[in-house]
Amino acid sequence: MTVVVLPTGYCNIKCAYCFESEEMRSTAGRPDLPAVERTLDYLLERLPSDMPVGLHGGECTMVPLKDLEALLAMITKRRGHSAVQTNGYQMSPALIGLFKTYNTKVSISWDGPGELNRFRGPDPDDPAATHEYTEKLARNVERLREADVRVSITTVLSRANASDDEKLGRLKEWMLWLHERGVAAGRFNPLFRHPTDYAMELRGEELAHAYTELFDFVTEKQLLWFPFREMIDNLLGLSLGPCVFAGCNPDDTFVYSIFPNGHVGNCDRTMGNGMTPRPDVPRRNFRQEILKQNHCAGCKYWRVCHGGCPAHSVGDGAALTPRFCKADYALYEHIESRLRGLLPNIRLVVDGKGRGNPFSAISDGPDPSSFRPRSAPTPRPRAADPVRSVAEAAPSATPTAPLASAAPTTPPPVEAPRDGRRRLPLVDGGGA
Ligand code: SF4
Ligand code: SF4
Repeated sequence: MTVVVLPTGYCNIKCAYCFESEEMRSTAGRPDLPAVERTLDYLLERLPSDMPVGLHGGECTMVPLKDLEALLAMITKRRGHSAVQTNGYQMSPALIGLFKTYNTKVSISWDGPGELNRFRGPDPDDPAATHEYTEKLARNVERLREADVRVSITTVLSRANASDDEKLGRLKEWMLWLHERGVAAGRFNPLFRHPTDYAMELRGEELAHAYTELFDFVTEKQLLWFPFREMIDNLLGLSLGPCVFAGCNPDDTFVYSIFPNGHVGNCDRTMGNGMTPRPDVPRRNFRQEILKQNHCAGCKYWRVCHGGCPAHSVGDGAALTPRFCKADYALYEHIESRLRGLLPNIRLVVDGKGRGNPFSAISDGPDPSSFRPRSAPTPRPRAADPVRSVAEAAPSATPTAPLASAAPTTPPPVEAPRDGRRRLPLVDGGGA
């Protein structure tokens, strides 16, 4: 879960694929700071204490600098740090100074070098404008890093940057360029439009190919790009993230948005029709119930996918068809195969054994390696093992005899293990 403060719906850049409404992106205004603060405290009192809080938009750097500072201070006071999602275009020295002061992690929306970034920026049909915009982003990332501000990247995968291997190759080079500049992490999100628009979106098989290529690159180079790392953890049963795989209720989303007037709404990805308040009493998660019995019935990855993000879904009414099923399934299948290839005894969530230590079978069986026998051998007595010597000298006990009757009348000396804990004497034949 996350709380995002939306200080404005306004944006200075009009990305071609933005999921926010045109009306919302054109409406400038200042946030009601006391109302936002009251709502933030109300939510933080009721939500888990490690709930991340960040600024989103619209474009949050479009609010007056003193309002932005008040918001960053508000968040940092409560969390010790702050976060912003920004298009990264407006990056004055004063703004960078604020990010330094308020320990802000800056996530920049950027889809790659050159024309790979053409769906972002002021005009996708103007190559010169895209070039100028993208060059400015590169400079701003370097300026932020020179000021030692933490930077991550959010990249939307689309026909512009991931529809063939040549584009994917350039994307990979750019990821290394970022890594060399200390941009530690990034996140890929697939482009989605309502209605579906394959002039911009990748088809299922194209997205699947891009995902698996990028997954292999990220793991080979040991980079930190999401959702790959999260999907590995999901299969291992260590966590369940990000929100798109966790079974989000479209009526009660995992993300809480705080609007400029202090009202609380659902996740901004659901705001294609403008900001709508969160209902006091959300409906049940009908989407999950229906998907489980229809599109996703029997899917081996249900527990780590849950049909994806409801805002991506295609269809009318309850919007029941997961848009990225083909790609998500293919990527999970690829990761599963990689994990099992490296660790043949790994126990994954999809094995149906529930949560638990995914690595336990590596040490306990069932497929022993040539260095580890199938069942534990009987421990061999050691020369200087007084406990075993006494137990061996004791009257014979049946294997099922209770410990007390098998024990000698005079307690044998108890071995003092190195960890300092006292241990009951061993009784031979009882399997103790
Ligand atoms: S609507 Fe989608 S992006 Fe938003 S919280 Fe739900 S799953 Fe996450
Ligand atoms: S991979 Fe497809 S079928 Fe399986 S849970 Fe996800 S959306 Fe449903």
